[in-house]
Amino acid sequence: MRVCVVGAGAAGLCSARHLLAEPLVSRVDVLEQSSQLGGTWVYTENVGYDDFGLPIHTSMYKSLRTNLPKEVMGFPDFPIKGSEKSYISAKEMLNFLDRYAEKHDVKKCIKYKHHVQMIKPKQTPTGELWDVTYKHLTTGLSTTREYDYVFVCNGHYNTPFIPNIPGLKNFEGEVMHSHDYRVPDVFKDKNVLVIGAGPSGLDIALEITSVCSKVILSHHIKDQLKSTFPSNLEQKPDVVRIEGNAAVFQDGTSEPMDVVFLCTGYLYNFPFLHESCDIVVEDNCVEPLYKHVVNINHPSMCFIGVPYYVCAFSMFDLQVRYFVQSMNGSFQLPSSEQMMQHWEMEKSERLARGYTKRQAHMMGPDQQRYYSSLASEARTKDLPSVITKMRDESSIRFLHKLQTYRMDVYKIIDDDTYEVISDGKRE
Ligand code: FAD
Repeated sequence: MRVCVVGAGAAGLCSARHLLAEPLVSRVDVLEQSSQLGGTWVYTENVGYDDFGLPIHTSMYKSLRTNLPKEVMGFPDFPIKGSEKSYISAKEMLNFLDRYAEKHDVKKCIKYKHHVQMIKPKQTPTGELWDVTYKHLTTGLSTTREYDYVFVCNGHYNTPFIPNIPGLKNFEGEVMHSHDYRVPDVFKDKNVLVIGAGPSGLDIALEITSVCSKVILSHHIKDQLKSTFPSNLEQKPDVVRIEGNAAVFQDGTSEPMDVVFLCTGYLYNFPFLHESCDIVVEDNCVEPLYKHVVNINHPSMCFIGVPYYVCAFSMFDLQVRYFVQSMNGSFQLPSSEQMMQHWEMEKSERLARGYTKRQAHMMGPDQQRYYSSLASEARTKDLPSVITKMRDESSIRFLHKLQTYRMDVYKIIDDDTYEVISDGKRE
């Protein structure tokens, strides 16, 4: 089996780690467009385009510390160690990924500066194969190579989602997306409207209060936000329109500003998938995927890392083990019709529970059930419940004490229990 892995971020490295351990796999090529492994966790001051004219992939900002404790963030067979703290820097995360790749001898199969341009299925007498065309960025030469399997691991925090806000196009001040945020200095003495209160929006809104005249944080999670904020940060409901240099909010109030700073999230984007791959992305729903992993129309292609609000690296590991078990015959994937039926049922169930199409891959409270369904179908080890429990608790603490939650220290006791040390007290 010859396998192509797109991307050397955490998902791609994890894919290669398990593929290399599989005797039936004869070749693993991890095609990575940049000159480094780590994807999201690579920090660069640069924004816009890189030296080869490709959009800068990473959305990492300089001060970032993880928004989940490291005890939740490692791989099941390779936890993150070496720090007393639970919330660690991007650099520590990157070093961790480097050690992971080293330990599992993954580096030997990474081809850096290889930009995947096109992936196309092709029928052969022995079954379906993949033509993968990639450009070697230093020579400019494109090559097409044949593979039996494709692992899509290109990440989904790099293509900014720009909401359709009336008047935004005519705003005379600066409009910026969090993808391009690196350091707070760019906002010195400005009035900044931050739109969105996801982990990045809240983190950055707080950080820039140190340099801004005023920060207006517009969002719709007010009831859940119990944290206190610095005096130059004011919370507002959703923006309904921009008029001249002011934002008008849902409660009818308006505020003047110099910068509209969009912390509005990202779009799933697979520009290299030829339409014959039969994957459609609409309103951030990637379909049709069985269990958010398998391309139902072409089941020798999988996607690692699509769900969000998850224990990311552990989930990558489980998704990869799941798919590799199907490759080596440990279990058989259902027929395309059955997989499609399952996906349609999942979609209807989600709609009935009030989820929007945009939330098609949101896990959150469904995590443990999702993990168990992958593990039991593939007869592979499930993830321990302790990580989902810690994830749930840390997410609540995040909303309640935004300015201090990163001082909490988590300790795993066993597969099901943990403790938190907060303000020097065991809780
Ligand atoms: P990525 O890390 O994005 O890697 C994808 C790789 O694919 C990149 O190296 C890219 O160069 C490569 N690639 C893309 N297209 C091509 C192509 N055409 N050809 C070749 N190579 C290609 N998660 C947490 O669990 N905890 C956190 O605290 C946390 N903080 C975050 C903070 C920020 C600012 C962001 C943006 C994300 C954060 N995340 C966090 C989510 C994080 O992105 C995931 O945890 C995880 O690292 C994603 O890994 P990935 O391999 O799926 O994607």
